[in-house]
Amino acid sequence: MSLDDETTMIRETVAKFVDRELIPLEPAYLRSKLPGSGHPELSDAQRERLRTVSKDLGLWGLDAPEDLGGHDLPTRTMAAVHEELGRTCVPFILPPDSPNLRMLQAVGTEAQKRKYMQPYIEGRMVSAIAISEPGAGGDPAAMKTRAVLEGDQWVLNGRKIWITNARRADFIIVMARVGNDARQGGITSFIVEKGTPGFIIEREIPMLGGEATYEIVFEDCRIPQDSVLGEVGKGYAPMQLRLRTRRLEMGSTCIGIARRALDMLCEHARQRETFGVKLADRQAIQWWVADISTRIHACRLMVQHAADKTDRGEDVRQEASMIKVFATEMAYEACDHAMQTLGALGMTLEIPLNALSQKARLMRMYEGPSEVHRQSIARRVLGLRG
Ligand SMILES: Cc1cc2nc3c(=O)[nH]c(=O)nc-3n(C[C@H](O)[C@H](O)[C@H](O)COP(=O)(O)OP(=O)(O)OC[C@H]3O[C@@H](n4cnc5c(N)ncnc54)[C@H](O)[C@@H]3O)c2cc1C
Repeated sequence: MSLDDETTMIRETVAKFVDRELIPLEPAYLRSKLPGSGHPELSDAQRERLRTVSKDLGLWGLDAPEDLGGHDLPTRTMAAVHEELGRTCVPFILPPDSPNLRMLQAVGTEAQKRKYMQPYIEGRMVSAIAISEPGAGGDPAAMKTRAVLEGDQWVLNGRKIWITNARRADFIIVMARVGNDARQGGITSFIVEKGTPGFIIEREIPMLGGEATYEIVFEDCRIPQDSVLGEVGKGYAPMQLRLRTRRLEMGSTCIGIARRALDMLCEHARQRETFGVKLADRQAIQWWVADISTRIHACRLMVQHAADKTDRGEDVRQEASMIKVFATEMAYEACDHAMQTLGALGMTLEIPLNALSQKARLMRMYEGPSEVHRQSIARRVLGLRG
């Protein structure tokens, strides 16, 4: 089967899963996000059904290595998967979540792969990554969390913030500084397991769209010497690999968000009449349709190009930054135009546009704010160092 045939086949399977299983859950999901609803996003039964159906459809371990039970699909095919999943506001990740998988795969020891990767691929473990600190977010190289080797244990001390999944995670990849090297030198990644003494989840922080992140503290947190992921002092590059994986993924997710916004905009514009004329016949609306469609097309080509380069083992740092900026801003703008076209209906919390818009808004911040990526893009073009 050619790459394009395989990609089309997987895309269709995921699209059906989204249309049949996830989109029907949207009304209940949106109600769960209303203040004081007291309901979980998804009930245990709904989550279990999604897991069972997606597993039966063969949608687990899509980009995991074959020797660990995965399908080892290329990045281009994974882009199609994430695009389809992006069309719904219902949060569901097909196990395993790829970015941390990539980091484990790239630098994990055989023992770490056996202990963490296998159950992670099989959907039995959840992970998180802790990079950001109160004084180091967009500039992670300013991090202060320290790790000191005492006998055969590392001792972690420091504070991390905005950490997604910290409470649910079975293990957290923690970035910390070893030694006295400034900036990127000395940054090392460690695996810290849930429940390790000295690993404290200090508070849950409510975020836009009813999401939450966590502030966590390491207070003389002792972990085994072999908890280092990769080499001591060389954690920055694998961390960037992990971030790049997520940034490409975000590009596809944003295409999915923009497609859904465009569908809702067009459906409404075709039937809504104002001043005796269909909205679809108004130039203002048509330009939005044209611009969103053009940007979706451009973004898909950008993602496919970067995906192919990734699969050839080429460097996509510049492309990943460009995609991160372009895709997140495109999706946010597409939602805004769709919300405006739908009038007061677009302002309600009963349809998924607001939730999709907030998802895109959050994505303009995490994995690096747009301004930091624009700076990185420009510095490479200008040939500036650092
Ligand atoms: C929903 C969500 C989930 C997150 N999940 C995680 C997680 O799981 N793990 C984790 O480690 N972190 C996570 N983060 C943190 C995220 O990566 C940081 O918030 C982000 O990198 C920005 O860091 P900061 O908040 O410290 O902002 P700052 O670095 O303080 O930047 C603030 C603003 O200043 C401006 N700015 C900064 N630098 C420049 C520059 N060079 N040029 C121009 N303008 C600039 C930008 O407008 C930027 O938005 C998450 C954040 C969010 C919102």
